[in-house]
Amino acid sequence: MGVKRISIPKENREKLLVFNRLLRNQTLNKWNPSCPHCNSYHIIKKTDIKRERKGYAKKYLCRDCNSTFTFDNCFEWTHYPPRVVGDIFHLIAKGESYRDIIEFIKDRHGVEMDRKTVINISRYCTERLEMFRKKIDLKLLHPTVWEIDEIYLPRGKGKFFKALTVLDIDTGYILIIYVSNEIDYESAKKTIELALNNSIRPPRKFKCEKNAAIIKAASTLLPKKTKIDAKSKKEKFDHLNNIEGQNRKLRKTLKRGVAYRNKSTLQIRADIYRYDHNFFWRKQGPPPVYYAGINVPKNLTRERFLIAVDKFNKLNL
Ligand SMILES: [Zn+2]
Repeated sequence: MGVKRISIPKENREKLLVFNRLLRNQTLNKWNPSCPHCNSYHIIKKTDIKRERKGYAKKYLCRDCNSTFTFDNCFEWTHYPPRVVGDIFHLIAKGESYRDIIEFIKDRHGVEMDRKTVINISRYCTERLEMFRKKIDLKLLHPTVWEIDEIYLPRGKGKFFKALTVLDIDTGYILIIYVSNEIDYESAKKTIELALNNSIRPPRKFKCEKNAAIIKAASTLLPKKTKIDAKSKKEKFDHLNNIEGQNRKLRKTLKRGVAYRNKSTLQIRADIYRYDHNFFWRKQGPPPVYYAGINVPKNLTRERFLIAVDKFNKLNL
C-alpha cells in the first residue's frame, strides 16, 4: 500500500497543525529549558535526586537566580513523572501483567506502586486521550472497507468477556474495541455507533460474519449506500482475514494480563491498546492516525506523546 496524500478538512486544519507542531517539538533534540523562576536559559544540570513516590529526577540549578528545580511535574493529574506514566502506558499497551509492570517501574525508576495505582494511571491516560480525541475531532478521513469481528477473553470460571473490534482495512486504523458481556443487538449497535463517531464518513463496505445481531445493528445505523457484506466461514473462509489477523494480536496481548474480573479495567486496556496501535503501529508505512491527518515523528516516545496530548488539551482552541 502506497502512502496516500491526505487532505485535511478545512474546519479541522488549524487544530491538526497545532497538534502536529506539538508532536514535532517533543522530538527536537535541542531541548532548551529555561528557569521556571526567572526564565533564564543559563541553567546547569546537577545530580540525580531520588524522591519518595516520584523516583529519580534530574535536578537543575539556575546560574542567575540560584534556584534549583526539576522539570518533572508536567501532568496535573498525577504526581508521578511523565517517564513513569509513559512506561505504564507502553507496558499496558503491550499487555504486560500488573505485577510485571510494578516490578519494572520499581527497577527502572525506583518508584514503588500498587496495582490500584497502575490502574488509576491507565484510566487517567484513557480519559486524557478521550478528551484529546473530542477536542481535536480525531476522525478517519477516507474509509472504504470496515471489518467487524469479536474476540473472547477469559474472566475465570469458564466465563468470557467479549470484545467487538471495528477495523478500517486500507489504513489499519482500529476504530473501536468495545468490551461487553454478550454479542447482542445492543453491544453491536454501541460498537458501530462508536466506530462511526471516529470517522468523517461511513465506509462503502461493511464486512461481518453472518451474525443476526450485528447485521441488524449495521443495517439500522449505516446508510443505504453502505454495502453490508455478511458471510459465514463456510461460505468464504478468508472473508474477515484482515481483522482476524489484527484480533489475534489483540487477543494475545489482552490475555497476557491473566483473567479479568472487571469489565472496566479490561476496557481501559483495550482503549490503550487501540490508541497505541493507531499512533505507533508502523507495519506498512505511517501509523494509522496519519490517515486522520496526524504526523507522528518516528522517534516519538510514549512519554513525549502523552506530554503533547496534555499540552494540547490545555490549549484554548
Ligand atoms: Zn533563575
